[in-house]
Amino acid sequence: MKTDVFIAGGGVGGLALAVKLASRGVHVTIAEQLKKKSNAYKGELLQPKTLAILDRIGVLEEIEASGHIIDQLRFQEINTRPGQEPPENIQLTELNYSRVASRYDHALMVPHERTKDILREKGQTYADYFNYLPGARFLGFESGMALIRHNKKISRIQAQVYVGAEGRTSPTRDAMNVSVQRKDYNHHFLTVTIPRPESFTKGKIITTTSCFLGLFPLPDNEVRTVYLIKAGEFKKIKEKGLEHLYKAYGNLEPELAETVKSLDDWRKIQLMIPFTYHVDKYYSGNLALIGDAAHTVHPMAGEGMNLAVQDADVLGELLAWCKEEGKPYHENLHYYEDVRKPRVSFLLSLSHMSALVYSFPNPWWRKIRMRAVQRIYDDDQLHVKQMLNISGLGRWNFSLFDRAIQGSVLPVRRKRIKDHTQQKQLFSEAEDYPWKFEGKGKV
Ligand SMILES: Cc1cc2nc3c(=O)[nH]c(=O)nc-3n(C[C@H](O)[C@H](O)[C@H](O)COP(=O)(O)OP(=O)(O)OC[C@H]3O[C@@H](n4cnc5c(N)ncnc54)[C@H](O)[C@@H]3O)c2cc1C
Repeated sequence: MKTDVFIAGGGVGGLALAVKLASRGVHVTIAEQLKKKSNAYKGELLQPKTLAILDRIGVLEEIEASGHIIDQLRFQEINTRPGQEPPENIQLTELNYSRVASRYDHALMVPHERTKDILREKGQTYADYFNYLPGARFLGFESGMALIRHNKKISRIQAQVYVGAEGRTSPTRDAMNVSVQRKDYNHHFLTVTIPRPESFTKGKIITTTSCFLGLFPLPDNEVRTVYLIKAGEFKKIKEKGLEHLYKAYGNLEPELAETVKSLDDWRKIQLMIPFTYHVDKYYSGNLALIGDAAHTVHPMAGEGMNLAVQDADVLGELLAWCKEEGKPYHENLHYYEDVRKPRVSFLLSLSHMSALVYSFPNPWWRKIRMRAVQRIYDDDQLHVKQMLNISGLGRWNFSLFDRAIQGSVLPVRRKRIKDHTQQKQLFSEAEDYPWKFEGKGKV
């Protein structure tokens, strides 16, 4: 079988890439090992840049209709109290996506499989160019061709470009012989979706000195919950029984004290072990990596899916341009790495910092955290930078001066950041797709 671009893995990254390419007349073949939807939790938060990309490929309306808007991130510090008493609120800080000067001024919680369904259905509207093979496992390369096992038969696919979008275990990455450095953390997470009262609509992270509960509302009166535990403690917690979890959730968020009791089986609760890595190269010859095949981030920043879709956007635009302009694919793949690698490194370090903020269960560390989070709100420049950076729409580095303000070494600035100042930090088309502007003096 012949195709322009072979994509191993039909996750969010692979599908977003395939839709973009098929919409531009590039023939794609996607080998996805699964035949049906997976029940595994894989992230649901779509950041503003991802919404902008989904808009450009024509699926935003459907995505919005399937999502719950997150316009704020709330950080609530509490002290729990014994018995039925509600917790004592110590601090509530609200960071607002509306500080981002873009029409994509919110994030969206969308069930992961729903996002994939929408992308797949969109791809199928380009029937001549979109060849999706469910139940097809990519095995590696032989004689420069992709080897897949499909319907118990082994077959070869010949392509101009081969993209590894297989997630954390990537035969394409193995074939590229890249180096990967992994970083582990002292905590794990339990994650599960439970019902929520209709009035519970805001995303929040609730913390005490030693506990952490992230709550992110989904459509249909559900809420994704993420509960931090010490690394290796899952077995012990399970032995304590579900009652222990009901109590922990109820103490931290009384509004969910009743709905959490609908959890009746540990098998519904997924253990999430955070770790990060980043490959040293994104392409080699005519092979390229996107999404989790190239990098994973700590889940604290809610960026994993977003980085995959953002990789897909840049690589897709580049490959479509190569086809349209008759340029050799392999000679231009470096542009993809040039654009994406520094952005991913930056977000990896931001998400690592966010993870550290919640990694030490000490009262003194909590005090530092509370002050640092509150300062992001109090100083508009910090607020704008934080939201812009996590949105993916731009990059505005934190300076030493910023960090000194955040650390309360310097006073907060009273000046509000003007939209046009911030807009200079948004990624321009020439920064997203520099190859189109080379020689035109616009880069
Ligand atoms: C437990 C867990 C929790 C997470 N939580 C969050 C979160 O809270 N927020 C967030 O943004 N991100 C989260 N992530 C990360 C997020 O899921 C990924 O960053 C994102 O899904 C990456 O997309 P991808 O397309 O690169 O890879 P994936 O979504 O992993 O997709 C890879 C696809 O390739 C298929 N595949 C694998 N090997 C082969 C093969 N050999 N042949 C054919 N097909 C193959 C897989 O079946 C899968 O469909 C989480 C990930 C995990 C594992």
